[in-house]
Amino acid sequence: MIRAIRGMKDILPPETSRWQWVEARARETFELYGYREIRLPLLERTELFARSIGADTDIVAKEMYTFADRRGDSLTLRPEATAQVVRACLENGLMRGAGVRKLYLMGPMFRYERPQKGRYRQFHQINCEALGSDAPELDAEVILLLLDLLGRVGLKNLRLLINSLGCPQCTVDFKAQLQLFLKAQEGWCDDCLRRLNTNPLRVLDCKSQHCKALLAAAPVMEDSLCEDCAAHYRRVLSLLDGAGQPYEKNPHLVRGLDYYTRTAFEVTAVGLGAQDSVAGGGRYNGLARDLGGADLPGLGFAIGEDRLMEVLPQEAGPDETSLSFLAALGDAARERAFFLLREIRAQGLSADMDFEGRSLKAQMSMADRLGAAFVVILGDQELAEGTALLRRMATGEQEAIPLNDLVPALTVHLGHKEGN
Ligand code: ATP
Ligand code: MG
Repeated sequence: MIRAIRGMKDILPPETSRWQWVEARARETFELYGYREIRLPLLERTELFARSIGADTDIVAKEMYTFADRRGDSLTLRPEATAQVVRACLENGLMRGAGVRKLYLMGPMFRYERPQKGRYRQFHQINCEALGSDAPELDAEVILLLLDLLGRVGLKNLRLLINSLGCPQCTVDFKAQLQLFLKAQEGWCDDCLRRLNTNPLRVLDCKSQHCKALLAAAPVMEDSLCEDCAAHYRRVLSLLDGAGQPYEKNPHLVRGLDYYTRTAFEVTAVGLGAQDSVAGGGRYNGLARDLGGADLPGLGFAIGEDRLMEVLPQEAGPDETSLSFLAALGDAARERAFFLLREIRAQGLSADMDFEGRSLKAQMSMADRLGAAFVVILGDQELAEGTALLRRMATGEQEAIPLNDLVPALTVHLGHKEGN
C-alpha cells in the first residue's frame, strides 16, 4: 500500500472541524485589527528564500525542499511566508499609497527536518505581516494581536519572550564582541564552529543543549543597541506594560532567520514538550531591500498551527453538530425523505440520510457515527399517517410529529445556534 510521505500527516474529520474553528477565530481577530487576507503560491524561486532567510540558517542550509522544474529552474516549496509576502507587495505595488499594509496568510509550509512531536515536514502556519511603518506602536499592536488571537482560541499558560536585535549598525559592534566570546570558549558543536566565523549571531539560535549552556554567559545585544534602537525597544515594552501584557525579556532570543531587526519575540506554551514555541516573529526592516526593493519596514509573526492544535483546550472548538439524520424505511419513505432533505437544507440546516436501504439499527448507528443531533424516523406506516418520529439523540426522547411540522420544528431546535 502506498503511504503518505514521512513527516507529512493527514488531518482528518472530526479534527478538521477544530482546525476550521481556529482559522475562523483567527480571521475574525485579524479583521478586528484591520488585516486582509493574501493567498500566495506554495512554490517560489529558490533565490527568494536563499537571499532573504540567510545562507547560514538551518532553513536554507538543510531544510528546503528544492528541485529543478522541467526547464531546469530551481524552485523551492515555501519554508515560510514572510519573504513571499514582501515579494508580492513589491511585485504588485501593494504599498502604493497604502500607509501601513496589514496582511494575513494561512497555509502549509515545508521544511525537511527530522520528524518528531511538534515538528513535521509539511506544517501549517497562520501568518501576520504589517508593512510600511517602523513605529513601535505597530510592534506592540502586532504582539498584542498575537496574544489576543491565542487567547480567543482558549490557549492558557503562555509566555511571551521578547528581545531587540538592533539594526545593522548596532549589530557590527555586537557581532565583534560575540565573536571574541565565542572564540575564547571551547566545546562548540561543528555547526557553531563554522558559524562563529561566518555568522556569529546564528550561534545564539543553536538547538544543542551543550551550546545553550555555554551561551548563558555570552554578551547581550541590549548593551550594544544604538540610541534609536534602544528608544524603540523601550517604547515597545512600555506599551506592552500599559496594555497589561506580561512579557519576559530574553536577551539571547534571535529567531531562526537572518532578516530580523529590532523587535524579536516568541510565544511558548506549557504542555508542548521540547518544541514549545507556538509562535515567533519580529521586525524585518532590511528584508525588502535584500530582495531588490526599496526600504520597506515591516514586522510580523507566524503561529505554528499544528502545535497550537496540540495545546488547544478540549472544550475549545465548534458547537456540537446540528446534523439531522433521516432514517427512512421502505421505498416510499425513502423517496419522501430524499425531498425532505432538500427542504431542511434549504433552511440552512445540515441533514443527511442513507441511500442503501439499510436496517433501522444500521441507520441509527450511522446517525450516531455522524454525530447527528436529531434522527427523523420515517416508515411506510408513519408516511401513511402523515407523521414522523423525531428522536433527540442526546436524551433518547422521541415524539411523533406531523410531517408538515417537521421542518419548522427542526428549525426551532437547531436554527438558533451560534454560527461557527
Ligand atoms: P523552532 O525553533 O521550533 O524550529 P522556528 O524558529 O524554526 O521554530 P519559525 O520559522 O519562526 O520557527 O516558525 C514559526 C512557528 O512555526 C514556530 O514557532 C512553530 O510553532 C512552527 N514551526 C516551525 N517549524 C515547524 C515544523 N517543522 N513543524 C511544525 N511546526 C513548526
Ligand atoms: Mg526551525
